[in-house]
Amino acid sequence: MTTLYCACCGQPFRRSSPRGPAPLYCSRDCRRQIEVRRRVWASLRATERTAAAPLTPVVPAGAGSFHRGEIVWERASA
Ligand SMILES: [Zn+2]
Repeated sequence: MTTLYCACCGQPFRRSSPRGPAPLYCSRDCRRQIEVRRRVWASLRATERTAAAPLTPVVPAGAGSFHRGEIVWERASA
């Protein structure tokens, strides 16, 4: 049995079946989490490209956390 580490929460887990590609996440929830985060990151990048307005708060690359993204959206709609 190979022990894998979840790409989302970092917890070690065992792959349920030896067939197919190795799973990256320990559970469906973790996979969904990453999907949601990717979507937010993609939308953040899109707004950075299109809206070059000086009012847009600067989000440091790599530090864009989930909550920070929400704050950005709140400010943008206010
Ligand atoms: Zn996980």
